[in-house]
Amino acid sequence: MTLLAVDRLVARHGLLPAVRGVSLSIEDGQVLAVVGANGAGKSTMLRTIAGAHPAAEGTVAFDGQDITGLPAHRRVARGLALVPEGRRLFGGLTVAENLRVAGGRARPGPWRLSTVLAAFPMLEPLLGQRASTLSGGQQQATAIARALMTNPRLLLVDEVSLGLSPMAVEMVYESLRGLVANGTTLILVEQDLARALSIAGEVVCLLEGRVVLRSSTSEVTREQVTEAYFGLSRAGGDR
Ligand code: ATP
Repeated sequence: MTLLAVDRLVARHGLLPAVRGVSLSIEDGQVLAVVGANGAGKSTMLRTIAGAHPAAEGTVAFDGQDITGLPAHRRVARGLALVPEGRRLFGGLTVAENLRVAGGRARPGPWRLSTVLAAFPMLEPLLGQRASTLSGGQQQATAIARALMTNPRLLLVDEVSLGLSPMAVEMVYESLRGLVANGTTLILVEQDLARALSIAGEVVCLLEGRVVLRSSTSEVTREQVTEAYFGLSRAGGDR
């Protein structure tokens, strides 16, 4: 079943069109990686899907319903959760408090404090610690755990590796792989091509706000994605 369908989406920053007519869809249980160079429009696209940035044109449909005009919190209530770039935790609150704030609005589902801690055991000893005192990796784990507390049907994760040590990236990816193995539907914005291709079933490459490649990860080479990333090829895209 198609869970999310984005059709000819346009999003702007002032006069600058950052997303220029993107169409894509994701099925229940799929993992889609969105790659592209700095400024390609990945974050703006993800934020527009989540309702954190307005769509100028086009539509976003979730579970068969048009949600283009819905505010972010109503999208969360329907099962869309964004893990934003830079984590955006409540720094003065503890880890437990950050998780509970999200849980307070939760849809019914499997995720609650105990199951989230089972998925992220490293958070257990940190529950009483203020979020601002955590390491980057710990903050990222908290941000993903916080999104899970809303019981999302689709998790949107922006630049999970940004600013993390290689060890922390590995730890966060290990947790994401666990979520994927349990059937979580995921859209992942990732700069690191190798990582993106290793976890996702499908990959979309954006260039200057447009989709220039969409493929199953088993049918595309790293070289083909790299070419699309730098605008050297037009294969498989809509330009
Ligand atoms: P990055 O990997 O650097 O985050 P990205 O692919 O996520 O890049 P966006 O952050 O969506 O790309 O940026 C797309 C375009 O929109 C860029 O030209 C960027 O400069 C511009 N842009 C992004 N955020 C803003 C903003 N708050 N105000 C003005 N322009 C912005």
